[in-house]
Amino acid sequence: MSKEQLNILLLLQKLDNEIAEEKTVLSRLPEQVEEKERQIADLEKKEQLEKDVLKELQLKIKRREIDAKAINDKIEKHKSELYSGKTSDIKELKQLQKVIELLQVDCDEVEEDLLLLMEEEDSFKLKVSAIEEELTKLQGQLAEIQKQVALEENKVKKFIREKEAEREDIADKINDKVLMDRYLVLWNDKKGEAIVEIEGSICTGCNLSLPSDIIYHLQKDDRLLTCPNCNRILLWKEITKDSIS
Ligand SMILES: [Zn+2]
Repeated sequence: MSKEQLNILLLLQKLDNEIAEEKTVLSRLPEQVEEKERQIADLEKKEQLEKDVLKELQLKIKRREIDAKAINDKIEKHKSELYSGKTSDIKELKQLQKVIELLQVDCDEVEEDLLLLMEEEDSFKLKVSAIEEELTKLQGQLAEIQKQVALEENKVKKFIREKEAEREDIADKINDKVLMDRYLVLWNDKKGEAIVEIEGSICTGCNLSLPSDIIYHLQKDDRLLTCPNCNRILLWKEITKDSIS
């Protein structure tokens, strides 16, 4: 076991963490698209509901128009009877006039009803067209997000490929298979922190105050040392010229 091997391992850990981070970014990219698609689906559902109501209203209007026509036809028929001169019986003529008057009341009612229905129809048509406008806007936003996400995906994938190639090269430099296996298990268990650099007397992985003999060996020897509490691989942080200046 040489310190050089541990330093390579530290570099490997840095790369593994970078790769893992970018993979998380990559896996979350579709969320933006999904969110917009959800918005669109919700609005389409709302549009369908409004359209159903509109259709129902238009059917009602059609039925009321048929009612109005039937009543008007009756009125016309009775009026022609009234003015045909066929009957001169006053009582009969008065009866006919009464019938026409009653029919006229019905007719007014139906026409008033129709007017209200048509006003309602107009307001639903406005609602539907407002939703359609909003949908067009959202579709445009979705297309833009899809474009951006695709670009970002390519960028992140390229970055990951490059980092993975770099990782391969570095992993090749670790010739101690046992150390490598130990690192891999720890990297998974300790969420990306398998090896820790020590510069004082505290394990930076778990904050344990390390026994002085461990510190001593860390500084002097090349043996593999691990934290007695968290099992992380320990590496004494060399003071380089960089960190002094
Ligand atoms: Zn520890």
